Amino acid sequence: MNVSDQTIHDLNEALDHADLAIKRQTATTELREMGVVSQVGRGVAHVRGLSQTRSNELLRFPGGRLGIAFNLDETGIGVVMLDASETIRAGDEVRRTGRVLDVPVGDELLGRVIDPVGRPLDNRGSIESTKRLPCEREAPSIMDRSAVRQPLQTGVKVVDALIPIGRGQRELILGDRQTGKTALAVDAILNQKESDVICIYCSIGQRSTNVARVIDQLTRHDAMNHSVVVVGEPAAPPGLQFTAPYAATTIGEYFMEQGRDVLVVYDELGTHARSYRELSLLLRRPPGREAFPGDIFYVHSRLLERSTHLREEEGGGSLTAIPIVETEAQNLSAYIPTNLISITDGQIYLSPDRFQKGIMPAVDVGRSVSRVGGKSQLPAYRKVTGDLRLSYTQFEELEKFARFSSQLDEHTSQILERGKRVREILKQPLHETLTVPEQIVVLVAVTNGVFDQVSTQDLSDAGQKVQATVPKEIPDICETIERGGSLDDDAIDTIRRLALTVVADFAREKNDVVS
Ligand code: ATP
Ligand code: MG
Repeated sequence: MNVSDQTIHDLNEALDHADLAIKRQTATTELREMGVVSQVGRGVAHVRGLSQTRSNELLRFPGGRLGIAFNLDETGIGVVMLDASETIRAGDEVRRTGRVLDVPVGDELLGRVIDPVGRPLDNRGSIESTKRLPCEREAPSIMDRSAVRQPLQTGVKVVDALIPIGRGQRELILGDRQTGKTALAVDAILNQKESDVICIYCSIGQRSTNVARVIDQLTRHDAMNHSVVVVGEPAAPPGLQFTAPYAATTIGEYFMEQGRDVLVVYDELGTHARSYRELSLLLRRPPGREAFPGDIFYVHSRLLERSTHLREEEGGGSLTAIPIVETEAQNLSAYIPTNLISITDGQIYLSPDRFQKGIMPAVDVGRSVSRVGGKSQLPAYRKVTGDLRLSYTQFEELEKFARFSSQLDEHTSQILERGKRVREILKQPLHETLTVPEQIVVLVAVTNGVFDQVSTQDLSDAGQKVQATVPKEIPDICETIERGGSLDDDAIDTIRRLALTVVADFAREKNDVVS
């Protein structure tokens, strides 16, 4: 028989159609398959049946409640509930949805407060976005990544000068409770108002009053327009808290893939680890160190691996991660903090001792590090802060010993006096972020001895005068600094002279007031 090419082509097409129809039919039958709840409680359910369920698939319980298929065993499925499970009973019907957990993404989310599955929490109606992406996604491959090369200005002097963060970097903030961890991360978000960075604040089990405070600060400082807030409430099922950082990352990744720069703050991953521990123990996964499941390191590293700076060919977007973790009694070597220290590219340690002494932000420079940020730091900082970090940590060591000796040689007292002034200048009031030129002028002033004659009580006022006045008088130098140009000796001398004049005026005004 002579069969033409056209006939073969037509037959193939007919077969493809038939194949597709069968596949669709099977999928529909599979989705119609019904399972039964065999056990339920504390945010976890066990389901029998549904043998075709995929890992991480969403399952639908009575009343439209959702759960994620977490454990796929021969005897049944361990389901992590995303909704309250109190009204679910053994024997209830469960159906497959055929989709994995996803969140809405896109510009429609900017300015919104949502829960980890994309339901609005801000009484401003439903999210209009038509695009959704899965919460669990592969991290970009090595070949799609580029080195960290652009700074992410936090507007906080001590961080930008001594522990600089680059776009695409992962920088951990850790410290005991109430040491200003959230405040520092919020400052970093507020400072992006003038930049093009989109910010995502992800709260994991944080007290509602604290989250409300963060939202209030973002709103009052006009920062909500470039931000998204994802909230895993403390009263929510542990499954919802567990998925919060993944949802936040997916929302950020969408913007990154559009070539934009994103900052994600995870507040805090200790709670995330505990919610995962709770789920794992309820699902009878074997416990490991401190009862955490064996894969907790993997869980966190997989999350933080998703932040990067993409190559220009991939759009050049970036996702910077600032995870926060709480320490107990300043124990940096606890399990979860050490895990996170080794996963991230550096850490900012906030010490309670400093906080109590009023040194705020309470950053312990000696114990903080940024492993890749230095390469992205603006050249002007490098010129000014060259050995500041080292000399500052040496000063702090020296200060501890100086307390015991009554007579100090001149060189030592000089180091101590200068160090005290640097420390005063690095203090910064809450939510008063500074532009790059403002930071540079005051750093130039302090490292060049402009404040040496000012008493430590007056330093903060004198510093504020300098950073507010000097940049206005040197627009050309400010432009060079912001453009990424270096400071030459002439520019440094100009700044020093102007700062000296400001300090002299300040001293005169003060004397007038006193007399
Ligand atoms: P928690 O462990 O409860 O999450 P935290 O470490 O996140 O606490 P914050 O809530 O950020 O700490 O701050 C604790 C308190 O310290 C707040 O009342 C805040 O206003 C104050 N605070 C933080 N940073 C500064 C600062 N730079 N200047 C003045 N006050 C500050
Ligand atoms: Mg906090």
